[in-house]
Amino acid sequence: MPTRKQPSKTHWGESPWAIDFTPKESPFPQSADFAIVGGGFTGLASAAWLRRLAPEKSVAVFEAGRIGAGASGRSGGMALAETAAGDLPGLGNVLAGFKEITDALAIDCDLELPGAWEIAREKGIPRSPIDWEDSGTLRVIRKVPGGTLDPGKLVAGLARAAENAGAQIFDNSPIEKIEWRSTPVIHTQSRDCVAGKILLATNALSLDLTQLASHTHPKLTLAVLTEPLAEQQLEGIGLAAGHPFYTEDLPYLWGRRRRDGSVVFGGGLVDADHSHDLRRVDARQGRARELFRSIERRVRGLHPALAEVQFTHRWGGPILFRENWRPVFARHPRSDNAIVLCAYAGHGVALSSYLGAWAAEALLEARQLPAWGDPSK
Ligand SMILES: Cc1cc2nc3c(=O)[nH]c(=O)nc-3n(C[C@H](O)[C@H](O)[C@H](O)COP(=O)(O)OP(=O)(O)OC[C@H]3O[C@@H](n4cnc5c(N)ncnc54)[C@H](O)[C@@H]3O)c2cc1C
Repeated sequence: MPTRKQPSKTHWGESPWAIDFTPKESPFPQSADFAIVGGGFTGLASAAWLRRLAPEKSVAVFEAGRIGAGASGRSGGMALAETAAGDLPGLGNVLAGFKEITDALAIDCDLELPGAWEIAREKGIPRSPIDWEDSGTLRVIRKVPGGTLDPGKLVAGLARAAENAGAQIFDNSPIEKIEWRSTPVIHTQSRDCVAGKILLATNALSLDLTQLASHTHPKLTLAVLTEPLAEQQLEGIGLAAGHPFYTEDLPYLWGRRRRDGSVVFGGGLVDADHSHDLRRVDARQGRARELFRSIERRVRGLHPALAEVQFTHRWGGPILFRENWRPVFARHPRSDNAIVLCAYAGHGVALSSYLGAWAAEALLEARQLPAWGDPSK
């Protein structure tokens, strides 16, 4: 059996979000009606939703590291509408659906939806609250639906909801191989589990399992956190009211304030080495280190109120792009009993839970998959 060697620990830096949840210890299952590979927003939301809709079915989540170890615990936490490719046929209202899911699962993740600002280097609105220097003058061009949440609280809330509903979560359990029999079998290094149906929610990692290497581009994307700013500083830079922002043009810059007045700023992508395994990227050196310096320089140059700002966190996380920016949401090429859901680009905070719940309904054969999710088209 070919095995995939995985470095035990990633060097992507520490995000500022706390994930206050540890799964209960339970014996490794020999079988599960539904096996979910990946314990980020997608996998955990799907597990919670599956048990909500079908409490008689067994659901097991297998996570390679700690829950939230991928993008979900490292995200900026900007809750955005639609997909990175915009609205898509049959998608529905992502933000309203996300709120319904978190309400139904009784998750408090500090969700606030005041709207998000698209900013750009020309055509700003009169009296733009943002007026920054960054390769030109950055100003607000429009307000769109959106807001912010605490990603650590969302990861923990989804995991708790899933576990309380009866799903089992196994962390530190990387799936190394799937045997595509009529009823698939998933393998960790030492154990295996016969899975009635599988959701692969592994995002930018394990592209050999999802067979997405030729359809997608995995990258590490970077973010930094400032020290808490005084209210006057936040007013000066236009972020006092808590609208997250992202540029419409390049160089890309996105960010949001946190409740303690600190501000997350992000931008910049790092490629994996020839192994195409993002786990091998060391954010403390090379291209990532250069990019952190460049983001910090850019942030200090945005506005006089930021000239002396200090940074408390620098981190990266995996992100997966499909050529046409649409999420992948399709049956696995090897089996109709498996669904692959990923590739939200930088647009997955609300969308991942929303489509995770949809995936649960599709696994129960209660809902069709969307035509736009097929990566081969
Ligand atoms: C720095 C950063 C900032 C971002 N900011 C925003 C933002 O502000 N707004 C927004 O909308 N989106 C943002 N995104 C994107 C968003 O965070 C992701 O789209 C979303 O978290 C994806 O969730 P997921 O569960 O699909 O994937 P992930 O959270 O990456 O989860 C996949 C999980 O699968 C596990 N896994 C992988 N392989 C295996 C295996 N073989 N066996 C078992 N487990 C495995 C991983 O360890 C990981 O925990 C950001 C992403 C990054 C990296």
